[in-house]
Amino acid sequence: MDAYRQQLHRYDPDIETAIRGEEERQCDGVEMIPSENYTYPEVLAALGSVLTNKYSEGYPGRRYYGGQEFTDRIETVARERACALFRAGHANVQPLSGSPMNQAVYFAFLKPGDTVLAMDLSHGGHLTHGAPVSHMGKVFRFERYKSETAQGGAIDFVGLMARAKEVRPKLVLCGYSSYPRDYDYAAFKQVADEVGALTMADISHIGGLVAADAMRNPMDAGFDVVTTTTHKSLRGPRGGLILCKAEHAKAIDSAVFPGLQGGPHMNNVAGAAVTFKKAAEPDFKTYARQILANARALAKALTDQGAALVTGGTDNHLLVIDTVASFGLDGRAAEEALDRIGITTNKQIVPDDPRPPLRPSGIRLGTPACTTRGMDEDDMRRIAGWIVDTLRAPDDAAAIAKRHTDVRAFCRGFPVPGIAA
Ligand SMILES: *Cc1c(COP(=O)(O)O)cnc(C)c1O
Repeated sequence: MDAYRQQLHRYDPDIETAIRGEEERQCDGVEMIPSENYTYPEVLAALGSVLTNKYSEGYPGRRYYGGQEFTDRIETVARERACALFRAGHANVQPLSGSPMNQAVYFAFLKPGDTVLAMDLSHGGHLTHGAPVSHMGKVFRFERYKSETAQGGAIDFVGLMARAKEVRPKLVLCGYSSYPRDYDYAAFKQVADEVGALTMADISHIGGLVAADAMRNPMDAGFDVVTTTTHKSLRGPRGGLILCKAEHAKAIDSAVFPGLQGGPHMNNVAGAAVTFKKAAEPDFKTYARQILANARALAKALTDQGAALVTGGTDNHLLVIDTVASFGLDGRAAEEALDRIGITTNKQIVPDDPRPPLRPSGIRLGTPACTTRGMDEDDMRRIAGWIVDTLRAPDDAAAIAKRHTDVRAFCRGFPVPGIAA
């Protein structure tokens, strides 16, 4: 234990012991929640630094507090690296997380009551894309498009064009947290241009895959704004990143500060800068390709053993199993059964799910965290076997206990970055 941790342990053993418990949990289990990852030790060092002491309201060169020599340097480097990585004209690295990041974009371009055309939530759209329970869903009018689940999850662009002409959106929004396919951004742009709408892509889940050019980059298709969280496939600290064309720089920056937020968390901004440096290295391209290869291997092994996947497979890092159709088990029961063997997933609604969100029809799995630990296609096949065997017989206590022991032993072969063994 390092000196600061020892100090924390002595002063507040309740909290320090809980942190240690979480470290052990992260080491002992297979993390398959597609939005999670293990960040770099270098990022943990930046997050735990004295930058957390500093107020830096404003932007480099235009701050409301003195003493900004080093914070200006950090934020400037972070912005430059983000622009280079994603081929963007401008970057704002201050959003405190994904949710305020998207709110800032809506307020930068829309007036209350304006219409956004976004992915149906049960087809993969995120809460911040105007779910009725989110404030954004109350402020703006969200209209929906869907994927064609029977057609491998493709978007029907003829239908989308007709819908756009009908609802006349100010903003066409691409993005998802449970859609297992890639988007044709150029086709979305064509629809938006036809009705004079702005284009926004929220690539929060696939930010790392896009940075590595393993998936399409909406900036290349001429999108106005691209948002991404920095803590999912990008492997960085918790935070949000807004990328845009240079012409939107002022609207975006003033929507983040002073529009929505006060002081940025400069320890996170420093961690994001380190993350962007890592993501520009050749190793990161290898990592991103392995995430995709692992997801394909997992999808094939699950399908071969009789699991029904939403859209039939995956083109990205995630997949959704219809557990009701496959195993007669709802998503909550499936999630809980897998928890008992040390495989962490999350319950997930499937397209047009007839069941309620807390007892939905499926679970969602992803490969970024496993890939960070060095797991490969053979490991995915092994994990698929454990998953299917468990979901077929969720009440077989003896088999579950044995499998939990096997999972823990398996995990010991894959150290977690940033956690001392
Ligand atoms: C995760 C996610 C967000 C929100 O990020 P938070 O950091 O949890 O607020 C927004 N959009 C999409 C598509 C996401 O997947």
